[in-house]
Amino acid sequence: MSFDNLGLEPRLLQAVVAMGYTRPTPIQTEAIPLVLAGRDVVGCAQTGTGKTAAFVLPMLQRIRTEGRAPSALVVTPTRELAVQIEEVARDVAKHTGHRVTVVYGGVGYEPQIKALRKGVDLLVATPGRLLDLHKRGDVHLNRVEVLVLDEADRMLDMGFWPDVRRILNLLPPERQNLLFSATMSTDVLRVISSTLHDPVQVSVTPSATPVEAIQQSVYPVGGQQKADLLIKLIAEHKLDRVLVFTRTKHRADRVAKVLGRHGINAAAIHGNRSQSQRQGALDSFKQGRCRVLVATDIVARGIDIDDISHVVNYDIPNTPEDYVHRIGRTARAGKSGSAFTLLAPEEHETLRDIETKIGSVLESRDHDGFDYSHDRIVPNPEREAVRKPRSVFSSGIKGRGYRRGTRRR
Ligand code: AMP
Repeated sequence: MSFDNLGLEPRLLQAVVAMGYTRPTPIQTEAIPLVLAGRDVVGCAQTGTGKTAAFVLPMLQRIRTEGRAPSALVVTPTRELAVQIEEVARDVAKHTGHRVTVVYGGVGYEPQIKALRKGVDLLVATPGRLLDLHKRGDVHLNRVEVLVLDEADRMLDMGFWPDVRRILNLLPPERQNLLFSATMSTDVLRVISSTLHDPVQVSVTPSATPVEAIQQSVYPVGGQQKADLLIKLIAEHKLDRVLVFTRTKHRADRVAKVLGRHGINAAAIHGNRSQSQRQGALDSFKQGRCRVLVATDIVARGIDIDDISHVVNYDIPNTPEDYVHRIGRTARAGKSGSAFTLLAPEEHETLRDIETKIGSVLESRDHDGFDYSHDRIVPNPEREAVRKPRSVFSSGIKGRGYRRGTRRR
């Protein structure tokens, strides 16, 4: 399949060439013709699939370039995602002449108001700041023809839905709606049925791709030894460009500090840090000044960083969906990548859920020469690959399939 067959105008094809894309990704192949035809589209796709260009390219073909109030609006949960979408949209708009602006919270209003006053065709926004600017009369939403709800599942998780509903009420009812979500929970489906008009659903294999492309392993370790093991793994395997996930913001800071003390340059990125701190951490990672970026799920979700060689789950993610998202940060664009999960005894239940979801057992590994304490549990390598969902009454980690206190060397 080539971009030439999707119905895009020559100036958009020029943009595609300038961005260095040679072939459309599956979500682009499916979604672009539908968006061009004016259909409402539900895209079941995670970041890394090329979904941004899948909506930006056809959308900019459909909207005017008059630069007054926005004709297209993209609502997305985090500042980082907003900035990434704006970057793709700007690259495309260089060839079409559309004005693109981004607004998000946590920074001053003035530059955003100034940008809006200059005129905008496509506005990318996080929900809260968009509503604030609308209340102040700095942006008008009555000319929006195309709406994109990006990462709808995450917006629901983050409690943004009341804001998004308010935004929907400000838009003209006659409009095209595009909704992208990595997962299709019942909440997302409810949103789809109440917001979209006769939508076509397109999806790209949500969880199969990462599982196949990424080498995944589990390192059973006592909770107290995780930092030591992480340092050893990074130093001895000479890991470069590592994205480490922690459960909490506090732990992200702590891990970054411990790594720094051991001579491993690391930056932390999470919701308690200011926008400039977050951008600074991202830039220093992108430019290779630090080897390790330590992040929490909400912030890391959707960050577009190339060439991540390793994802380390310092803490196991809460849900199988988060696991798939996290490891999806590596092995992008056909490159190889690895994902390590440091597994404390209390995290085994969650590992089972993840294995059920991805349909395979993750290999347990030991780091040679690491002095493991006894408070770890090594999963039994013969445990079943795919189980039925756990009974809600099963408890603890004593169940079938695990050996307590085993030292494997
Ligand atoms: P996204 O899923 O939109 O975050 O895109 C993930 C990454 O894929 C970004 O770095 C894009 O620049 C890149 N990308 C998107 N579409 C293509 C394509 N057709 N060919 C090559 N790279 C692409």
